[in-house]
Amino acid sequence: MKELLRKLIQADTTSDKGELAAAQIIAAELGRSGIEPRIDSWDQTRANIIVHIKSAGQKAPLLFVCHIDVVGPGETAWSHPPFAAVESDGKIYGRGSADMKGGIAAIAATIRQVVDSGTRLQGDIILLCAAGEETDSCGVRRFMHESSWLSKPAGIVIPEPTDFAVVTAHRGMIWLKITTKGKAAHSSAPELGINAISSMRAFLDELDNYKIDIQPHPLLGSYSMSINTISGGKAMNVVPDQCTVGIDIRTLPGQNHKRIVNDLKQIFTRLKQQNLTFSAEVSVDRAVEAIETDPQCTFVREFCAVVGANETKAVGFTTDAPHLRPLGAPIVIFGPGKPELCHKPDEYIDISDLEKAATYYKNIILRFLA
Ligand SMILES: [Zn+2]
Repeated sequence: MKELLRKLIQADTTSDKGELAAAQIIAAELGRSGIEPRIDSWDQTRANIIVHIKSAGQKAPLLFVCHIDVVGPGETAWSHPPFAAVESDGKIYGRGSADMKGGIAAIAATIRQVVDSGTRLQGDIILLCAAGEETDSCGVRRFMHESSWLSKPAGIVIPEPTDFAVVTAHRGMIWLKITTKGKAAHSSAPELGINAISSMRAFLDELDNYKIDIQPHPLLGSYSMSINTISGGKAMNVVPDQCTVGIDIRTLPGQNHKRIVNDLKQIFTRLKQQNLTFSAEVSVDRAVEAIETDPQCTFVREFCAVVGANETKAVGFTTDAPHLRPLGAPIVIFGPGKPELCHKPDEYIDISDLEKAATYYKNIILRFLA
């Protein structure tokens, strides 16, 4: 398991490298137990891998969903190189060790163990390791597009790093780009132009007073909004004709993304009524829905019993889970690794957590499928 994880980290799967090499590593590992996964590959380097362990078919399948891609190492220097998979102090360091190649290594090892032991299952195990979760969820969307062969799972498990908390909710996210348009002019005569940065200032002032009307969620708290990028202006002596900001809004279950966009358009209309030269547009860069599984449903209660958890929690990050909602199955996020290490330098996973995860996944498989 440790060796599989090290190979997976060394197969850099940042978005420009793609997932194919890592998918082949997973396939080779499972092949050692006679399992033949299907690699679905496109655009030369992109890949999903789908593992289907067939059973007597008396019970609904369990679906495990991982992602193979990782985010880049970032600008800050690491104490161990990000793709070397250095082992030290009982930990493996590297990009993806926690998010979420550790989870992949653990579930792959579990599946091998179950197959090698000859356990007769009453329901199928299905594992998807998908491409592109960190960018546009292209892998899971592709899987869902061709999922008619899949019968409704008893439950969906996402082995993202939760440090073994049973997670049933995460916020959604909508990334908006707001661009104000103006008219360029020589800045010695600014009255001949329309200053897009001034228009943006008017918009941002209005945005300060904008509140989305929604009650805080018991696990997730409030929604949040943060203006994270701004660009505009070309030269010190030119009135800027364009200014763009990027806004990240983290949403709660039930919050309608379209309504947020419409609210912003209403602010534009108001500003235009006050000043006819105001012009702005909004576009959605990325949107991920929030998820919420009923913590009292049978699957979650039994899952908690198997792993010895007495409550369910929420996480701050988003996952591919919202794309799986059409399958109509309860979704639980549960895996090894500390969520606070994700996307940061010196990401690591405790080797003992890999072992622990494999034991949990085996018990989950036996509970629901044996
Ligand atoms: Zn992840």
